[in-house]
Amino acid sequence: MQQHNYYLSVKNLLCTKFPDKLPKAFVWSYGCQQNVSDGEKIKGMLEKMGYSLTDKKDEADFILFNTCAVREHAQDRIFGNTGALKNLKAKKPDLFIALCGCMMEQDHVIKKIKTSFPFVNLVFGTQSLSNFPKLVFEAMSAQKRLFEYGFDIKELNENLPIHRDSNFKAWLPIMYGCDNFCSYCVVPYVRGRERSRSFENVLNEAESLVLAGYKDITILGQNVNSYGKNLDEDVNFASLLRALDAIPGDYVLRFMTSHPKDLTNEVIDVIANSTHISTHLHLPFQSGSNRILKLMNRKYDREKYLKIVDYAKARIPNLALTSDVIVGFPGETEEDFLQTLSLVNQVGYSSLFTFIYSKREKTPAALMPDPITHEQKVNRFNRLLSLQKDISEKFCQNMIGLDLRVLIEDEAREKNLMIGRTKNNILVEIPKCLKTEIGEFCDVRITSSKSWVLQGEVL
Ligand code: SAH
Ligand code: SF4
Repeated sequence: MQQHNYYLSVKNLLCTKFPDKLPKAFVWSYGCQQNVSDGEKIKGMLEKMGYSLTDKKDEADFILFNTCAVREHAQDRIFGNTGALKNLKAKKPDLFIALCGCMMEQDHVIKKIKTSFPFVNLVFGTQSLSNFPKLVFEAMSAQKRLFEYGFDIKELNENLPIHRDSNFKAWLPIMYGCDNFCSYCVVPYVRGRERSRSFENVLNEAESLVLAGYKDITILGQNVNSYGKNLDEDVNFASLLRALDAIPGDYVLRFMTSHPKDLTNEVIDVIANSTHISTHLHLPFQSGSNRILKLMNRKYDREKYLKIVDYAKARIPNLALTSDVIVGFPGETEEDFLQTLSLVNQVGYSSLFTFIYSKREKTPAALMPDPITHEQKVNRFNRLLSLQKDISEKFCQNMIGLDLRVLIEDEAREKNLMIGRTKNNILVEIPKCLKTEIGEFCDVRITSSKSWVLQGEVL
């Protein structure tokens, strides 16, 4: 049967099951933007099956958790939240519960769900997204638990319906999976090999987003700089960015994540010469120590990283750099950690995403000796946070006096304030007025700053 028919088949089942109400679905995506983007496709498919979406778990007839396996803490939280569904299911035996995403590609997780969570109806991995309607139909009609994972689908998730969470911000995945095998990271094992979408499909989707009025489009990939490597077409990330930037309209193009080993000067030049591309570069360095970078299998060293940063700073005005950093990688010494602090000092990031190393099954780092205590790691982590707090504050202070175009995103918690985002990805609080409409651009003068947030007034 074609996917299209499975939507109808589920709809028919739901009509029998819920003759006098519209069934509701609750979807929660944990973790990275790629997951959030997959979650929007899942929501689109559920709507096509006849569900209406709800953000209240208690009133849902279908609950789906789209899971994250990157760190143990996230994984434990998801197990806890899944366990808590047992009571809901006891009250509402008709409730359908599904788990999907990265965790479902791990054998030990599947084993745990089979034994500890008998109330889960459907489990599917990252490669089965386009099979979702079929899996729901089969699990519902046969009234049996279904598991599909470790599945090697070559096709990409093209042409799936999407329920976008925002009407002015959109995700634009350009590739799936990862081939880099950083020694600490579980992503290549749970998301499979790197696959790029065709140039034409990406361009078409971007054009329709701009046409539909989206103002903030974020290009997604685990390593966007290696876009196109597995395609027959002669394209790369720089040519893709150039083509996307040429789409006429009023919008900002953001992208993540850039791997330093593949970021070329050509990409930096494209950003520097562009109209729409954000002047924010998320460029994870992970560690400032060459010894640790080698153990991490990152394939660049501190010197190469700093060279890229220098070039980007020289070419792109108002550039804001952010990064991911891991503290406490197995065997990280105080000397290694001081190298991380010195790199943070040298670069001057606008903000940092900091993580304490988390041991992941199957990864090479899990087998490395790790004599450092958790207390030592927490101590280093706090020192890094406190250094970055000062740097973020200084970064924001340096923006005072600038006149900038910001996209209004939300209302602030304090009354009469709106929140906007600058082209280089810094948040700005602005007094509410007729010009500060959510989803619209607005020109502001930066007047002051508080920690990592700017304050401005409408021009
Ligand atoms: N593809 C992106 C990042 C994906 S995961 C990149 O390479 O930059 C997001 C971040 O989680 C990573 O950059 C890393 O800092 C962190 N991370 C991944 N695995 C981790 C682990 N085992 N422990 C702690 N942090 C980890
Ligand atoms: Fe993980 Fe490295 Fe791939 Fe990023 S590039 S997803 S850190 S393996």
